Order: sequence, then C-alpha cells, then structure tokens
Amino acid sequence: KSEEGISWHKGVCRFCGTGCGLQVGVRDGRIIATKGDPDAPVNRGLNCVKGYFNAKIMYGRDRLTQPLMRRTNGKFDKNGKFEPVSWDEAFDEMARQFKRVYAEKGPSGVALVGSGQYTIPEAYTATKLWKGGFRSNNIDPNARLCMASAVVGFYQTFGVDEPANNYSDIEFANTMILWGNNMAEAHPVLWSRVANRKLTDPNTKVINLTTYRNMSSDLADETIIFKPNGDLAIANYLIREIISRGAVDEDFVSKHTIFTAGVTDIGYGLRNTDKYAYPAERDILEKQKRIRLSPAEATAMGLKAGTEVEQKNSGGSAGAHWQIEFEEFRKAVEPYTLDFVAPLVKGDDDETLESFKARLVRLADLVCDRKRDLLSFWCMGFNQHQRGVWANELVYSIHLLMGKHAKPGNGAFSLTGQPSACGSAREVGTFCHRLPSDMLVANGEHRKKTESIWNLPAGTLNPKVGYSVMEIMRGLEDGSVNFMWTQVVNILQSTPNNTHWVRAARDPKNFVVVSDVYPTYSARAADLILPAAMHFEKWGLYGNAERRTQGWHQLVKAPGEAKTDIWMMMEFARRFTVDELYRAQPLKGVPGDALPDVREAAAAMGLKGDATLFDVLFAPSAARQAAWPDPLYKKELNATGEALGLPYFPEKALFGEYRQFTLGNGHDLADFDTYMREDVRGLLWPVVNGRETLYRFNVEYDPYAKPDNLFYGKLMKPVGKGTRHALTDKNAVAHPGTAKIFFRPYMDPVEMPDANYDLWLCTGRILEHWHTGSMTRRVPELDRAAPRAVLYMNPADAERRGIRRGDTATVTSRHGECKAVVETKVRNIMPRGMTWLAFFDDKVLCNSVVIDAMDPISLEPDFKKTAVKVVRD
Ligand code: SF4
Repeated sequence: KSEEGISWHKGVCRFCGTGCGLQVGVRDGRIIATKGDPDAPVNRGLNCVKGYFNAKIMYGRDRLTQPLMRRTNGKFDKNGKFEPVSWDEAFDEMARQFKRVYAEKGPSGVALVGSGQYTIPEAYTATKLWKGGFRSNNIDPNARLCMASAVVGFYQTFGVDEPANNYSDIEFANTMILWGNNMAEAHPVLWSRVANRKLTDPNTKVINLTTYRNMSSDLADETIIFKPNGDLAIANYLIREIISRGAVDEDFVSKHTIFTAGVTDIGYGLRNTDKYAYPAERDILEKQKRIRLSPAEATAMGLKAGTEVEQKNSGGSAGAHWQIEFEEFRKAVEPYTLDFVAPLVKGDDDETLESFKARLVRLADLVCDRKRDLLSFWCMGFNQHQRGVWANELVYSIHLLMGKHAKPGNGAFSLTGQPSACGSAREVGTFCHRLPSDMLVANGEHRKKTESIWNLPAGTLNPKVGYSVMEIMRGLEDGSVNFMWTQVVNILQSTPNNTHWVRAARDPKNFVVVSDVYPTYSARAADLILPAAMHFEKWGLYGNAERRTQGWHQLVKAPGEAKTDIWMMMEFARRFTVDELYRAQPLKGVPGDALPDVREAAAAMGLKGDATLFDVLFAPSAARQAAWPDPLYKKELNATGEALGLPYFPEKALFGEYRQFTLGNGHDLADFDTYMREDVRGLLWPVVNGRETLYRFNVEYDPYAKPDNLFYGKLMKPVGKGTRHALTDKNAVAHPGTAKIFFRPYMDPVEMPDANYDLWLCTGRILEHWHTGSMTRRVPELDRAAPRAVLYMNPADAERRGIRRGDTATVTSRHGECKAVVETKVRNIMPRGMTWLAFFDDKVLCNSVVIDAMDPISLEPDFKKTAVKVVRD
C-alpha cells in the first residue's frame, strides 16, 4: 500500500452521477494524486479528465479558510465589505437574522438550499435540522434542477423512486437509445463502457436522439435530430408502432400494468399569478392561457377532443389520473403516425423529410424487434424539460409495453448529474415534499414514523409541502422568504433567470449565507460566507445513479478554519432553544397547526424550554455513547467529531439513525462499517441479508418483488380508496403492485422562436468542467483545456448575421442578455435555428438569459428551450 511514501485509500469521484471509484494518494497530510480504482465495478480503473483531478480541486489558491461577513466598523452591514470574522461572530449574526425572520414569518420565511453533492450524513443532518428542528419544509436540493422530473416519473409510474437496473446492462444490451443524453461528455466513463460494447459486438446499435449533433454522435449508429419537445411525439410514435406491429408483451402488460391518462398539470410553472410575471413574460402567459385537449385528455374529462379549456398551473401537485382501458389508450396514440410526427418534429432543415422518416422507421424497427434487448438512457435533456415528467413516463411506457424492464440488458435508466443525487437528495429526503426513504411530508403516517425515529413530540413535523428551489428564489424576490442558507451549491449561478435572484439576495430585508469551499458567484452575492471542508476532509458516503452506496474515510485535514457542513449545522442548532421553536412560534399558514399538541407532547417528553435544538436532535444519546469509543474513529482525522468534542462518531451515528428508515421497506442499506471497509466498493440497495440487489422489480433478484406485486405497491400505506403516494398524498391514485402505462400527448414548449427572438438556446455541461466550474476552473489543466464557454451556432445562421467563428456576439432573450465567443465547427454542430451555451463560465453567465419555466409537476426548470436573438458585437 505504500509507494514513495504515498498511502493509497479508496474514494469516490464527486464530478458526476456515474460514481467512479478512486484510489486517493496521501502523503504528508496532503492529497497528492488520485487514480481510477481498478477494483471499482463502475469504472474498473478508468477515470475521465475531471476524475483524474479530484486532488487538484482541493488546493486552489483562493480556498476559503475562515468565515467572511459583510461589515462596516466591526458590525454587520448589508452594504459593507467582506471581512474575516470568528465562527462565533458568524453564527451569532446568522442566528440573529434567522430569529428576526422566524419571528415575523415562522418556518415559511426561512429556507435551506442543499445539494446532490451532500454526503448522505450531511443530507440527513440538514433534513433533520430543517424539518424536525425548525419545522420548515423549505429545504430543497439543487437536484431539483437536475432530476426532479425523473423522481416524479418514478413515483407516478412505479409508486417508488429510483432505477430498477444497473450499469452492467451496458454489457448485455444490443440496442441502446440516448434520449437527450450526451453521455460522451456528461457520463464519460459510462460512455467508454458503451463504446466498448458497441465496438466489440457488431450487432449492438446505439441511437442518439438529440436536438443537435454532439460528441455522442461520433459513436452512434444514428443521430436523430428533432425539434425541442419533439421527443414527446417520437415516443408516442414508437408506442403506436409497438401496438400496431403486434409487439406488445400481453402477458406482462395484463399482469403487471394498468393504462392511465388524465388532465393534469396544465401550465408551465412559469409564474403562478400575474404578480410574478415580468412584463415580457405576460405575453407568453396570455398565449398559453387556453389549450386544446388531446383525445385521451378529452376522454378522461368526458369532453370532446379538440375542446379548448382554460389552463391552470397545478403548482407542483401531481394532478389526478384516471385508469383507462387498453382500447382507449390505443386510440389516444393513433394520431401519432409517421406522417404526422416526422414533419412536426424534424429538427435539421438540411435533412430531407424522407431521410428523417427513414431514420424514425429504422428506430422503430429496432425498438419493436422482440428478439433484441432495449436499454434507454436519459439525463438532462429529458429532465430539464417543460414536460419532463411526461417524457420520463413515456419511455417507461415503451419498456413496459414490451415487457423489457428490470432485466439484464433491458430497462429504462435515468442517469443523475450529481454524485449523490440519489443517495443524498432523493433517498434521504432533502426535497421540500419528502421525508427519508420515499416518505412524504404530506402523509400523516409518514410524519408519525419520522417523529418516532427522531424522538420528537407528535405533531412537530410541518404537514405543508415547502418551497422548491425556484420557489425559494422567487420567494427571495417577492419577500415571502427572507433568510436563505446554501450548502455545497452555487445556486445563484445555476438557476435560470438568475439576474432576479442575485438582485433579490442584495435586498436589505434578506440575509443570505453561503457555505462553500471557494468564493463562488453565489458567495460573492451573499452576506455571510462560511468556509467548508471538501470531500476527503470528512467521512462520507454517496449514492450513485445505479443505487450504489459507497463510503470513504476522512483522509486529510481541512485548511485553516474550514469546517464540515455537519459541524456548521450542529453548531447553529446550539443557538436555538426548544422554547423559541416548539413553543413560541406558530406554523404560520398551516391550517389546523398542531402547535398546542406539540407543546404538551414536548412537556410530556421532558423537553425543557432551555434545551437547545442541538440537545434535542444531535446530543449524545445512550445508544450513541454505548458504541463509544469506536474502533473506526481516528481522532486526528475526524473533522466533525473532533470539533464538536463529542463522545460519539457523528457521521456514523447519523448514518445508523438514517438506516432505520431504510430497513424493511425496499430501501435497505448496509451498516456504516461495511461501506467503510477497504475491500467493499459499494453495494446496490436494497441490501438484504448482506446481499445487494442487481435488479429491482424482478423476482429472480429482488427479495421485495413478488409475482403478483412486482412494484412494491403494497408497501405504501393506503389512504382512502386505493393508494395515494405521488407528489403529495392528496393526488395521483396509484394501484398497488402495478406499474402505470401513461398516455401523454405532444405539447409545444412554452415559448418558441418568433420574429423577435428567432433562435433556440439550449444550455448544458461540457466534459472538462463540473457544473458551475467553481472547482474545475481552479485546476489549471482543465481551465486551459476549456477556458471559456462558447456559443455554438450553425454556420449559416452565423453568416446571415455577419458573424464569423471567433467573433463575440450578444445573446438576448426576453429575460436578459449575455456575451460569448461564437464557435461553428467543432464539438457541438448545431442545426439551423439552434444555439448552445455551457453554464460553467460565470463571465458568460448564460443563466441570465434562460427562461425560468418549469415542468409543472416536478417543478424542475427547463434549461434547454429559450427563444433568443444573436447579434454580432
Ligand atoms: Fe467518473 Fe463522472 Fe468522475 Fe468522470 S466525472 S471520473 S465519469 S464519476
């Protein structure tokens, strides 16, 4: 284990949801290198260009090492300059501001934006502090911007979240379809596995469905370029073909599925009322006010097809669904013929209609071939979509109709962007509507179970769904949220239409705290910056996109005064007493608030008024102390425990407590020590009797799947008739044990190019940089490789505007403008009418241009479809 004084330890890469294993080299208390872990099943020794630089991201010259607060003359001043302060000074001011807002607005006025880059114990601490301690459900992760549509798609289709399959399907599948997933740049190591499969098996076909030609096109057998939202129509065309060619697996469909349609979630989450609409957007709202019903929607409403109805924004509820018969479903997809779909969605004006039709037919030939395997991947192209939930549901419908799901080489696979979007954001329940392990804040039984595990008085948990990320941003602007803390996220750069939110952060009524490792764009707009430890400076676990939970040890110390996020949350919790939170504050806006009961219950439990939230939530319990001293714990390398001076191992204790939620309900995790073993490279949950589960919903692999109940439906507690367990427990009737095959129609995007804004703008990631670039831009090699975000344009579009490759141009939308250098030849080749920008570059700041329209069910914004104009500077 030693080579020139270097000790090597297992670790996990933090730069995408693939979850590659690392070997991390430590010498003299410093991480000096990382390399791909040859024993890791995900990557088998390989890393991508970002992964190899996990060491260098830790040592940028401007690493934050002490708290910084805006001050003048030694006092907090919103307009002051950042000055170094002690942790006590930082927390004192932060608590004062929090209490000011809490006294005025209660739990709805404060918000925490978390992250899919939280470790699992961090996410659990945040959830417990905000929901159990502050009684506020205004906590939401940046995963809302990333895969919230996938979450709702899972819930609505299967009744439970997260994928059935695993990455080894790549080695079994002979048909792979990418739906809006430039895997070559966004999941490079998985792409190398796809390339290996494709290049070693001549029968393997890879189809790239996309709105522009990208790096994944280089390997793909076919690149099908469609117009934005055209994926909805293509999926319906494939469904129609599956039925008309007799390719339905009737046995599977009749035993395990039901057909579903419904008028739901009309509207785009653009703004709930005129109050929120900016002048330019009112025009869009006006145009979108009425909608013509599709045949299936009309059937579900008992109206005639083509009837116009008033749009309503469902405000994040899942709406209602109706079970329909197969014949109704067949009729609903009947209009999606080749002749209807091809001209509607063909995305490249330089391709003939006949050629495009031939591509669609070849795609249908592959999909409908019952002898072939079928593996579908998608990522942000599908999830960051005004109809992202529908898109997810449609692909499941294809797989379910064919019975090609949850089997080796066959499945529909949503990839995540972040290293622990699954493990930390979804499974732990950092979303504003969720509790740990697929439970929901709106469900009384779920709250009761959570209060019991957290040992909180009955009625403590707030039943009202909190604000999602975009609602928090809008809340800062409209005054409904006045305190925001962000952790492990650069939210003011990564949210669409961000000019508004940056301005709101500087509003004198608002107090914004940013915990981070570098002075990010968000940090620079904050009032208080808290220096955080990075991933190998703390103990942690991530859960990747294939349900693999992986752990690592703390390997080095954080620099200066930087501290772990768990320590920050625990120390902050010491500043609040039970009296202040459980007794003094009503849950404003929560009908039938159970506060009096909470008071009584708290008294009955012996909770003293002057006990702090730390005492209630995190104090060393008898169970925690019984496990002390812990043989795994290393005093010199336990940033949280050491700083707290507690007689227990915080990360291990928190993980152990969280594990209680997972056992026996289909999410079972192994214990902390197992994940920390050097010879364990992660396990796919549910882990039952020490064995991981390769395929969920498959009786050969999954101990929870039963022949008459493949999809766990009976695990969910029925409420009234049927089982209700979608986004809130008031909506979306589910049928226990069956998956739902949805009819979802094609629908135009909320705004489309017109005479004034004549081009589409799509945004995304590139291979060399991680999200907002706050870490990878500190690595000189990566910064040199991609120093700036460029505007990809079609050469003819550029020429018509007098723009040459390398010129600077201004991109203007109804929402804002930015400037970028134009590229027409390499990497992304745009069809006419389409442009593309990456969001890593805070000098270009493409999100100042992007519309903040959301999927109305998942409340995930769409970063892919803004109407813009481009003018040469
Ligand atoms: Fe693997 Fe993703 Fe890290 Fe690249 S960025 S090494 S693909 S986890």
